[in-house]
Amino acid sequence: MNVAADIDFQSLKTTGIKVNYLYICERKLWLFDRGIQMESKSDKVLMGKLTGEHSYPREDKREVLIDNLINIDIVGEDEIREVKLSNRMLHADRIQLLYYLYYLKRLGIEKRGVINYPKMKKREEVLLTADTEKEVESALIRVHDILSMEKPPELQKKPYCTKCAYYEFCWG
Ligand code: SF4
Repeated sequence: MNVAADIDFQSLKTTGIKVNYLYICERKLWLFDRGIQMESKSDKVLMGKLTGEHSYPREDKREVLIDNLINIDIVGEDEIREVKLSNRMLHADRIQLLYYLYYLKRLGIEKRGVINYPKMKKREEVLLTADTEKEVESALIRVHDILSMEKPPELQKKPYCTKCAYYEFCWG
């Protein structure tokens, strides 16, 4: 096992959702971290949760929470899986799953990652490599830097702002 030792993982480790939000919107990440958790009322989050809860009823280990930080949808023998509604946020879903793989590797567990899109009947394989490990480490450092900011990152219009739970907060 070749875990990079050049980051202080213990102080940088964070929740999977924050790593996901980093790739969606840095401002959203900051707002979420400060306890403005409007996303919990979002129908889409609820739908995603329901999709995760009911799409693979025969799997052995589902909703595995580790260190109160990462919550893996499904843990199989060789792979971990995340279940998502659509692949519109594939880049964010991908880094979140890479982070889970990285986190597990730090615990001495090596697996493959799969993102399942049951409604689309699609799956994306996600593998931890030297390059993707570096990507995860850069993401963790960036999350830390953003959450250390006193003010939220400046507004930047995203194509999906109107669908974001923070739309009224940002643009209202
Ligand atoms: S509304 Fe747009 S700018 Fe505001 S948090 Fe959401 S994605 Fe980011």
